[in-house]
Amino acid sequence: MKIGALKEAFAGENRVAMTPDSALLLSKLGHECLIETGAGQAAGFTDEAYAKAGVTVLPSAKALADASDVVVKVRGPEPAELDLLHEGETLISFFWPAQNPELLEQAKARGVTAVAMDMVPRISRAQKMDALSSMANLAGYRAVIEAANNFPRFFTGQVTAAGKVPPAKVLVVGAGVAGLAAIGASVSLGAITYAFDVRPEVAEQISSMGAEFVYLDFAETQTDGAATGGYAAPSSPEFREAQLKKFRELAPEIDIVITTALIPGRPAPKLWTEDMVQLMKRGSVIIDLAAERGGNCDLTVPDEKIVTANGVTVVGYTDFPSRMATQASTLYANNIRHMLADLTPGKDGIINHNMEDDVIRGATVTKAGEITFPPPPPKIA
Ligand code: NAD
Repeated sequence: MKIGALKEAFAGENRVAMTPDSALLLSKLGHECLIETGAGQAAGFTDEAYAKAGVTVLPSAKALADASDVVVKVRGPEPAELDLLHEGETLISFFWPAQNPELLEQAKARGVTAVAMDMVPRISRAQKMDALSSMANLAGYRAVIEAANNFPRFFTGQVTAAGKVPPAKVLVVGAGVAGLAAIGASVSLGAITYAFDVRPEVAEQISSMGAEFVYLDFAETQTDGAATGGYAAPSSPEFREAQLKKFRELAPEIDIVITTALIPGRPAPKLWTEDMVQLMKRGSVIIDLAAERGGNCDLTVPDEKIVTANGVTVVGYTDFPSRMATQASTLYANNIRHMLADLTPGKDGIINHNMEDDVIRGATVTKAGEITFPPPPPKIA
């Protein structure tokens, strides 16, 4: 089959879904690779590098879509991109089907099969294609780097001839994939790191990484993630109050807050309120990784960095993986290549879109003129 990578149409998106290395591995599955000219440029991959890896470089998105059997990209498709695809063509990209019913209808009407990387089930067998995790891992790391860049002091404590420097205190709110990556980066820079999550089962992971789990003085135990596929459920009002009270106590002490708290299918919970920002010291930094879903901090402006009247920097960037475009593209292209490997079981260049396979079924949101979202729950774990 011909696998073609589109240049991302979204302004400022630097990632690409195919790298010269992933193309070489795709060719070992019997596929032929194509790419739109300039698609890898912002991620550091030139047209020449692709050509050297045997990839055919095509002059436009239309030429690419016309010539491909499978189109791969990073961001969810724009309507104009879906319009380029022909009947029977497969698209593999992020898609966010629950938030984009009109795109589902459009893909259905065009007879396009859409495989949503954000719908890959979070089961062990599918970890190699779990692009949500590979991108969240980058975002968590980058959040700490961005915090350090905006923080006018050391992370690590020091005793020098010129004086004693206290270590920075970092609080990570939400210890999923991004939060754990942030904890790892923060601890490795030498900050005293605290973390909180509504899922009590992450306390052990937090402490094994050298951070301190923030316990609440609260009798009710939260439902653990097992009931909700590993994800958080909304908190009771009483639990939320106890959480906010604890954060208010911590706010004057904490130099850097990294928030990553999300609940599937809902806006991000507001956990770092305006009065907490006001309690923080001048020079403190808040990095809100939930900005795209409305933000965990009251003051977050998506895609912007603001400085409050009391001198606290609040960063609401939504493009952290794109800020590490070479690495992000390499990891994402690997996720895509693994998805294509599962779709090509004979390694013979023939796609077998097996809807009996839990992972392929879970990720397929339209197929042959039908909407196949939402999928049935996976049978295996
Ligand atoms: P996510 O991005 O949906 O949420 C981030 C974190 O925010 C979660 O840990 C959640 O518990 C937390 N959160 C929600 N509300 C909060 C609140 N009020 N206060 C504090 N924290 C709050 O999560 P994710 O990173 O996508 O991970 C979700 C789960 O899936 C995790 O258990 C993760 O370990 C699991 N996972 C499993 C696999 C696998 O293959 N088995 C792969 C990736 C992730």
